[in-house]
Amino acid sequence: MKGPELLIQGARLWGGPRADLLVRGGRIAALGTGLDAGPDTERIDAAGCLALPGYVDAHAHVDKTLWGLPWQPHQAGPTLLDRIENERRVMKELRLSSELQSARLLRHMVARGTTHVRTHVDVGLDMGLAYLHGVQAMHAAHSEFIDLEIVAFPQTGVMIRPGTLDLLDQAVLAGAQVIGGIDPIGVDQDPKGQLNAIFAIAERRGCGIDIHLHDRGETGAMTIAMIAERTRTLGLKGRVAISHAFCLGGLEPERLEQMIELLLDNDIAIMSHGPVGGIPFPPVRLLAERGVRLFTGSDGVRDCWSPLNTGDMLERAYLIAYLNGLRDDPGLELALRMATYGGAQLMGAQDYGLEVGCAADLVLVPAECAAEAVALHPRPRWVLKRGRVVARDGRDLLPPLD
Ligand SMILES: [Zn+2]
Repeated sequence: MKGPELLIQGARLWGGPRADLLVRGGRIAALGTGLDAGPDTERIDAAGCLALPGYVDAHAHVDKTLWGLPWQPHQAGPTLLDRIENERRVMKELRLSSELQSARLLRHMVARGTTHVRTHVDVGLDMGLAYLHGVQAMHAAHSEFIDLEIVAFPQTGVMIRPGTLDLLDQAVLAGAQVIGGIDPIGVDQDPKGQLNAIFAIAERRGCGIDIHLHDRGETGAMTIAMIAERTRTLGLKGRVAISHAFCLGGLEPERLEQMIELLLDNDIAIMSHGPVGGIPFPPVRLLAERGVRLFTGSDGVRDCWSPLNTGDMLERAYLIAYLNGLRDDPGLELALRMATYGGAQLMGAQDYGLEVGCAADLVLVPAECAAEAVALHPRPRWVLKRGRVVARDGRDLLPPLD
């Protein structure tokens, strides 16, 4: 749906001067000072708020959030496999609707300024394609408010759970745009098996790849090398992402350089969300300086994995800056780029940005500049999706859920 003509007056632009933005037909029609518009044009007095492109949460798990439910104490053990098993148990007990849960969370994300989401959706023996269908139904009802890309995600493993591979293939045929994977060594103990299988689906179906890689140290590095090799062999340069890649935070400098070269040669993007609890994480400033594509996301928001993530991408940028010690303005802006342009590029959002002709997916936040926005991470005063105001002062303006 195209919104009405709208004139945003007195905004600050990221890295630029104060300016007005004229929005017409869902797009930025003009930028400049003293812009005029007809008497029927709606007006927003931005009062010096900073205009940013809509936030991009490019690594979420909206299908299994507990958002909107009573507080659930976190009960998972410390290891990855503990968390997987705990989640299987809780999700069986709660029997939640992925359609309703994802709708609850997406509304909150919109309220906090997110306009684009890449979500991993569990596909496996426990739920088949039910979560996928639930999220797709939710998006059909919310497509004018948010752009959504789905990764078919084998949370509980691929090779150790025979039948999962077929389900992943079916999920892509059913509309998932990206095929996922998870720790081919740590979870499956069969890196060739899992990687060959999911790369075969990507080649056959023409979809991208986004692999969760929590394995640390040399185990993770070996996996990156295997991913890079298959990316090159199958001509999938620029179509592959690795999420978390904790191993990049714990390698000797020489080995890290080898990894960076592999990432650059194959244009593999890296997602870091700033993990809690002393887990190593990719050195984002170094990777960005070397030209590695970076993006970020909320990961699981109030789910069985962690109660700590909030679905606020400006806060996420702050956490990345905090954990990486990014105190100067270029560093703070790097964290914000991961939460905006980095994710938009990953999702192939062609008309994303703050230039004339771009989709009017905008956030107006009370901050002098991008660096201050990250440092203070205030809630947005206005959020626009394709030129329409969809949130105001931290609350979404969407029709109520039935
Ligand atoms: Zn994840």
